[in-house]
Amino acid sequence: MTDGGSDGTGRTSGTDGTDGRDGTDGRDGTDATGGTAGDVVVRVDRARCVGTGLCAATAPDDLALGEDGRARARHPVSVPGERLTEAAEMCPVEAITVLSALDGRRIAPVL
Ligand code: SF4
Repeated sequence: MTDGGSDGTGRTSGTDGTDGRDGTDGRDGTDATGGTAGDVVVRVDRARCVGTGLCAATAPDDLALGEDGRARARHPVSVPGERLTEAAEMCPVEAITVLSALDGRRIAPVL
């Protein structure tokens, strides 16, 4: 007997199997880390930033250069993803930190 929505995992899948994290926040839904949408905070130490633009080129959805030529986070909270992690890892002056919005745990760069 089936209930029409059970997928055998104990979850009800609704009609299309989506979990509500499929890009409904207006982004493209990519999340190579498998993280949960909306759960990281990007911090930029603007005093440290030297304005290379690498981060903005790597993660343009989350980072941009300000009018002063230094990077800034585009959003108070961001979706975790490979590009964002890569941007934090590649900053030559380690000005970018990606933190868990839930508990402040450092996600990137990895020390
Ligand atoms: S990669 Fe680092 S130094 Fe370059 S713009 Fe971004 S934060 Fe600034």
